[in-house]
Amino acid sequence: MNKHFPMSRRGFLKLGGSTAAVASALGASRLEAMEQELGGKDFSPVTGKLREAVPYTCMVCNIEDGGIAYVEDGRIVKLEGNPDHPGNRGKLCAKGNSGFLHTYDPDRIMTPLLRTGKRGEGQWKRISYDEATTLLAAKLREVIDRSIKANDPAIRNEIVFKWGRNRTGGGIQRFMGAMGSSAMVGHTNICESSKKIGLEPGWGPDIESADFENTKYALIFGGNVTETAYFHNPNAQRLVDGVVGNKAKLVYFDPRHANTAKIADEWFAPFPGTDVAIVLAMAHVIMNEKLYDDAFIRTWTNVTPEQLVAHLKSYTPEFAEAESGVPARDIRRIAREYATTKPATTFSYRGPCKHVYGSYQEAAIQMLNVITGNIEKKGGYCLPRGMGYGQPSPKPPGGKVPSILGAPPAYPLAGHQVSTHMPYQIMKGDAKCSVLMTYYDNPAYTYPSSHVWEAMYKDEKLIPFFASFSPYMSETAQYADLIIPDTTYLERNDPESMPSDLRPWLGIRQQVIKPLGNTQEWRDTCIQTVNKIDPDGTLGIKQYFNFKNGEEWVRAQFEGIPGLKEDGGYDYLKKNGVWPKYGKIDPVTGQIVDKNGDEVPAEYGLHLKELSAAAMDGASVEANGAIKKGGKTIGVRIN
Ligand code: SF4
Repeated sequence: MNKHFPMSRRGFLKLGGSTAAVASALGASRLEAMEQELGGKDFSPVTGKLREAVPYTCMVCNIEDGGIAYVEDGRIVKLEGNPDHPGNRGKLCAKGNSGFLHTYDPDRIMTPLLRTGKRGEGQWKRISYDEATTLLAAKLREVIDRSIKANDPAIRNEIVFKWGRNRTGGGIQRFMGAMGSSAMVGHTNICESSKKIGLEPGWGPDIESADFENTKYALIFGGNVTETAYFHNPNAQRLVDGVVGNKAKLVYFDPRHANTAKIADEWFAPFPGTDVAIVLAMAHVIMNEKLYDDAFIRTWTNVTPEQLVAHLKSYTPEFAEAESGVPARDIRRIAREYATTKPATTFSYRGPCKHVYGSYQEAAIQMLNVITGNIEKKGGYCLPRGMGYGQPSPKPPGGKVPSILGAPPAYPLAGHQVSTHMPYQIMKGDAKCSVLMTYYDNPAYTYPSSHVWEAMYKDEKLIPFFASFSPYMSETAQYADLIIPDTTYLERNDPESMPSDLRPWLGIRQQVIKPLGNTQEWRDTCIQTVNKIDPDGTLGIKQYFNFKNGEEWVRAQFEGIPGLKEDGGYDYLKKNGVWPKYGKIDPVTGQIVDKNGDEVPAEYGLHLKELSAAAMDGASVEANGAIKKGGKTIGVRIN
């Protein structure tokens, strides 16, 4: 029986009758309000009262869809998609819909905990955030003082930060930059760095945006769009729109008969990790049968069609059949269809890139789009559109000395860190760690060789002080000396932007409800810790955290965004959750439409835009025409 509403059957019948009366009194407007067209409103089915609606950005996965949380009597009772959000267009996935269970998880850590027994023994004492930040500040200050005394900035790298899901809008990097430490280790190398490394050298950005809804032919390798693939909620909608509304053909390669196979016109099950053989054979057919886009290859790549024909000579469909098990005749037929149906696109997030030679597989799949000239076309394979938010000035200078943690010099091509090496580097004495901080991270459970991480955490000689910001107890947090819990994502502030639509957007995460129990968001913990490390500002650290609280910090990150201030600035985002508003989302077609019901088109052909003088400032042009800045490719010289 529900402890809040003890009820007999008789009571239930009485309530049922009165609820029906309320419903009928509210009439048709109640029903209409439940339609997406009037999204953003919700009513209690018991009292009929309008629920408070607070926009937020989801963080159950890394897609960062926009939602509206409905609050009744101070409690979040329901989450729905934000109907004004261009990315997820009013819809959340099942995980996103149930996200408020994170907030009300009965096993949440509701106050800072100080270890009292042996490490990992499970003996804790509840303390206040004031006590917790005082202790953390003292440990950090000890390293900083030692570094100043020895005049050795490398000592700062003994302050180590390891994160799993970091959606702090650069907050952790700012904090570590202020500490003067470069020892930051993310999780990307056990996640998607193989995809990023496959794309970045030739493409610039680390991902693609497949324009599924406008395509006529989608060739998907291992990206299970309708179930799990990256951007799956936004992309599943667009793929279905493309297949059903635009009558696109969908060909799907996946060793499993995954959900996406169910909506495909054709499904092939290659041997795992052999997609690249199929892709190279398709490229072989396209080049040999002169189905390629000659002008695009000559203008936008550093090879000629003749060189490609020669390079692909041995990758015949028969070779691919032997490698993958997919019949050569099908590979030939699909290559011809794909090259002659316009527009077309591939998608592969995260399929073959997670198998052996994943980066090469990813680069080969992208090549199909390049040789057929489907780049940056409506319905084609497009550059991702993100919208940057700012980092308030003054900005901390960052660590002066590189740290080998996460970026071992022995692996110069392994960008995006090599976090799997971290415990070995510390255990071998190649890196020293005096203070370890972890954030939304659980390597003792989720990493390969998790027992090695566990052994490192247990050893107080290797890790003399370990602070975790985890909101939950975990296989890793159990070894911390101090747990300073962050809130859940519905009780905190962050700026957001992800390329989940071809129209770029900025989103907000805000406190839908005040943090539960005795918890506070990480940004507040960070500000308090810095104020205790550098109370009078003489270390020069405090100036970077001159914010009253986490919300003021995020507000400062949205300042100076062109056009946002005119629309109402930060307060617009608090009210609407996402900016800009491109139009209204048609609940039937899913398209963003203007007042006349006409689609608001996305912008295509971004690669044709000339780089501005500001973008070129500090850039260099390499012999092959690639324009580089800050280690990244930002453009291509075409004349
Ligand atoms: S796909 Fe969207 S709604 Fe689902 S968990 Fe990820 S961000 Fe949330």
